[in-house]
Order: sequence, then C-alpha cells, then structure tokens
Amino acid sequence: MIAERLNEIRRRVEAVPRAWVHDVEIVAVTKAFDPSVVVAAVEAGCTAIGENYAQDLLSKREVIEAFDADVRPRIDFIGHLQSNKVRQLAGLVDRWCTVDRVSLAKEIAKRDPGASVLIQVNATEEDQKAGCAPSDVEQLMTSCRDLGLTVTGLLGIGPTGRPPEAAIPAFDTVRALLDEHGLTVCSMGMTGDLEVAVARGSSSIRVGSALFGPRPGAPVHHQPSERG
Ligand SMILES: *Cc1c(COP(=O)(O)O)cnc(C)c1O
Repeated sequence: MIAERLNEIRRRVEAVPRAWVHDVEIVAVTKAFDPSVVVAAVEAGCTAIGENYAQDLLSKREVIEAFDADVRPRIDFIGHLQSNKVRQLAGLVDRWCTVDRVSLAKEIAKRDPGASVLIQVNATEEDQKAGCAPSDVEQLMTSCRDLGLTVTGLLGIGPTGRPPEAAIPAFDTVRALLDEHGLTVCSMGMTGDLEVAVARGSSSIRVGSALFGPRPGAPVHHQPSERG
C-alpha cells in the first residue's frame, strides 16, 4: 500500500516540468502515526523520515535504533523546536531542518557537534509561521558555521490555508536564497503543494498524508507548535 503510494508520488513528481535537473527526494512524514509506520515506510522504500514533535519522535526511538545500519532511514526533524528538547533528540536526529535562530543553533552545536542543519525561512510574511526572515538567512548561516554546524540547505513552507499556487512567491524566494548562497538542499512542498514546489526548485518534498492517509486524531495542520 505505502509502496504503491510512494510510486504514485514519484509519478506526480516526474510529471512536473522543471528547470532543475537534480533528483527530488521524498521525505516520509510519520508525525502522529504509530512507530510501526516507520518500519512500514522503510520496507516500502522510504530512506528519509520527517518528524515534527519531540515526543512523537522519542516514542519511535526504539524502532529507529532497531534498524540495521544499512537500512536505517535518515531522520529529519521538521517541526518547531524548543531548545530544551535538543538534548533528548541528539543522537536520533540526523538533520535539523528548522534552525531559525542563533539560540537554537547554539544548543544543537553543543549537543550534536558538527550536525547537518537546514535553515527555516519564513518567506510568507505570516506572523505565526516559524522561520527567520529572508534577510536574516545570511547572518544565521554564518553563525551556524561559526558554531561548527554544517549548513546544507533551506526549508520553506507555503502559506497556510491557501491554494497551492499561492506558495509560488515564497518558494521562489527560498530557491533564490539557496542559489545565492550555494546551498544544495531545498526542502519545500508537502502533499498539497508538492507539484508547485518541485516546479519552483524543491529538491526534497516532505510528504505525510499522500503516503499514509489522514493523520489519526488530528485536523490537517501545518507545522503546529510543539506538544509536550
Ligand atoms: C505535517 C508536515 C508535512 C507533511 O504534511 P502532509 O500535508 O501530510 O504531506 C510536511 N512538512 C511539515 C513541516 C509538516 O509539519
């Protein structure tokens, strides 16, 4: 079932005309699902897992650590992150994708020295959205590097509750910053706007519902603040 859906998403990605030649990676977002979903996703061929909530991810620690090294998926933390959660997550997270302030970068550098990070950019000018301002990316990137972190790319999220096309200006802003700074990982696009994101240069889409169905017990939400 998941393998079939994964293929369907790959077909959707392939069908998008795009100017960028890089492959588009699919990050399977398992938030709010049971730990067993991670195993099912990996068996279906997923190689990267995205999680939003510290508690949720910690509940999956056992299944993640049980994978043999050659099939263990990369774990991306993609939700709003409180600095005090970093210590618990260090060792479990392979890529911290929502660095948007120096205080968080400092904590990651302390608990997971040299870690791979993405800077989250708020390119939609929505007050409630996490992410640093586009004009702050350069400064934050420098701070991260001074702290010994490896900045590989940027993460952007389209405007909440709007049609997919409404994300175009934000995605263009993120992609332009990525190219300007010579970064490679462009994490943009989810189930609802993945075509638009790929067309605008995403290299990494974060897909939950299209792979696993509606999330249990929760309305569809876009990066709500962290629980617990
Ligand atoms: C939940 C979430 C996703 C996946 O959302 P779907 O619409 O289910 O694909 C992707 N990125 C972030 C940051 C999320 O919070």
